[in-house]
Amino acid sequence: MGDDCLFCKISSGRMNTEFLHETEDLVVFRDINPQAPVHLLLVPKKHIRSVNDITDEDRGVVADLIHTARDMAKKEGIAESGYNLAFNVERGGGQIIFHLHLHLLGGWKR
Ligand code: AMP
Ligand code: ZN
Repeated sequence: MGDDCLFCKISSGRMNTEFLHETEDLVVFRDINPQAPVHLLLVPKKHIRSVNDITDEDRGVVADLIHTARDMAKKEGIAESGYNLAFNVERGGGQIIFHLHLHLLGGWKR
């Protein structure tokens, strides 16, 4: 993958997107159209089309996304108040970008 995939472009640093966090394996940035006061996207650098395409080899990638989400929630100050983690899967599940990503949403005043 590469030029046709927006999240491949973003995660490889070709879009000037500001990263809140970056490792060898993933990046974290703010959603351009936030659905909550805090709305981050956690994106592996490896192109995986959707949750349906995760293989056994990708177990580490998935664990890494969740561990990083926990850490980012803390950094954003929403760990205690609570947050939502979401994978939209395929079109019926609301997925519009077919490169695996985890949504981290929170910061509502409840
Ligand atoms: P999904 O519906 O799960 O595929 O989510 C894709 C998300 O990517 C949406 O919430 C979009 O607002 C977000 N998005 C699309 N383009 C960008 C971009 N260039 N920078 C940040 N977020 C984006
Ligand atoms: Zn991709």
